[in-house]
Amino acid sequence: MAIDLSQSPASLWSVTAPPGPQTSPLDGSRGVDVAVIGGGYAGLSTALHVAQAGKSVAVLEAVDIGHGGAGTNNGQVIPALTRANPADLRQRFGEQRGNRLARLIAESAAFTFDLIRKHGIACDAEQTGWVQPAHSPGRAVLSRRRYEQWAELGADVAYLDGEQVGALTGAAIYHGGLLARTGGHVNPLGLVRGLAGAALRAGAEIFTRSPVLSVAPQGDGWRLKTPGGAVVAGKVVVATDAYADELFPALRRSIVPVRSYQMATQALPPELLSRILPLNHALSDSHRDLYFFHATRDRRIVTGGALALNVQWQSRLDRRIGERLRSVFPILGGDVRFDYRWYGDVAITTNFLPHFHRVAPGIVTVIGYNGRGLALAAAAGRVLAQAALGHDPDDLDLPLTPLATIPLQGLARRFSRIELLRYRWLDRREVRV
Ligand SMILES: Cc1cc2nc3c(=O)[nH]c(=O)nc-3n(C[C@H](O)[C@H](O)[C@H](O)COP(=O)(O)OP(=O)(O)OC[C@H]3O[C@@H](n4cnc5c(N)ncnc54)[C@H](O)[C@@H]3O)c2cc1C
Repeated sequence: MAIDLSQSPASLWSVTAPPGPQTSPLDGSRGVDVAVIGGGYAGLSTALHVAQAGKSVAVLEAVDIGHGGAGTNNGQVIPALTRANPADLRQRFGEQRGNRLARLIAESAAFTFDLIRKHGIACDAEQTGWVQPAHSPGRAVLSRRRYEQWAELGADVAYLDGEQVGALTGAAIYHGGLLARTGGHVNPLGLVRGLAGAALRAGAEIFTRSPVLSVAPQGDGWRLKTPGGAVVAGKVVVATDAYADELFPALRRSIVPVRSYQMATQALPPELLSRILPLNHALSDSHRDLYFFHATRDRRIVTGGALALNVQWQSRLDRRIGERLRSVFPILGGDVRFDYRWYGDVAITTNFLPHFHRVAPGIVTVIGYNGRGLALAAAAGRVLAQAALGHDPDDLDLPLTPLATIPLQGLARRFSRIELLRYRWLDRREVRV
């Protein structure tokens, strides 16, 4: 079992999120209709929906609720993929399946905020909108096309020109952009802990510090072994995303886990913050080496980035992201200080799409949200629940695809650092053209 316990330093979220429900390790054996591996958004949303349908369900989490991406991410609720637009999805999956997937994505932010409201989840939820500004004139043209495709599908989006983006973000460097009004931001750890509470109230069982060590056939179902016991289940949902370990080696090798660093500034004076993202939007722009920012309720800016080298990551991150922050919001002046720095792993797929797989008969997974899994993993949980409840997996909102491993995947993580340098070069070149 290769769960990374090297532990990121404490995140801002670990200090500000309300505590999660009390949970303990699995001790002994039990039988359930559905077993879920992984206590992130996808696993807990699956458990919630299975329990609401009146079936018994147990979640087995290797470490704690939100140990993975769900507890460490930036908190942006985004109803879009990193690259693909509805036309790309239709081209890949056909008209009907492509549109179904695109609608699932477009509706994922509203779905997530609805879950938060319905279950009274305390996670500083702000459905103020998500904006994707374009960092070059060429990207602004692509933004407009992006807008047209999502609008055609019925998504609540707008295209903004450079001036409008400037007014909305307080940043003068952008040339246009896409606004998704159903998006926004949350305290991500608060959300995942709240989902755990909602799943428990609906009747699910949750066991933490319970890594699944093996999954073996038993009768018509599967036996999942943990250090303290075993769960026997008719159906299994694997919801481990970038944190997939050797439990299903092919699954682990179907993605590249890429480290993403996060940080939070000191609390800023209200008059200063009123000129940075003044309407409290979440922002992730069009740079390949992504720029992303949003403000928190305690008046910090949460941002971060990728690094080509991990050595001395904290000081290098302070310098690089501090400069970036000042270049986008010069009003910050020279004295930006970072109070928190942490990291997590993002699951990248070769086509930048999330993948829905049947791992074995009765075992399904969604993996590879490519850094856009906050809202989408919550929405995917409902789809995974449908699969576990006996709906035909070939007729769900996520199209099933064959599980394929990435050749030389072990090298790919190292290669991703070189890829980052290429991304930066391309980003700079694009602005100069
Ligand atoms: C630093 C960072 C920033 C991000 N920012 C954003 C953002 O702003 N917006 C956005 O939309 N997305 C963002 N993402 C992506 C998003 O966080 C993920 O896509 C999302 O968390 C995936 O949810 P999940 O439930 O599938 O997996 P996770 O939340 O990663 O949970 C997987 C869980 O599986 C557990 N697990 C693994 N193996 C086992 C085992 N053998 N037995 C039991 N449990 C196991 C792990 O411990 C982990 O808790 C970011 C990700 C990171 C890392």
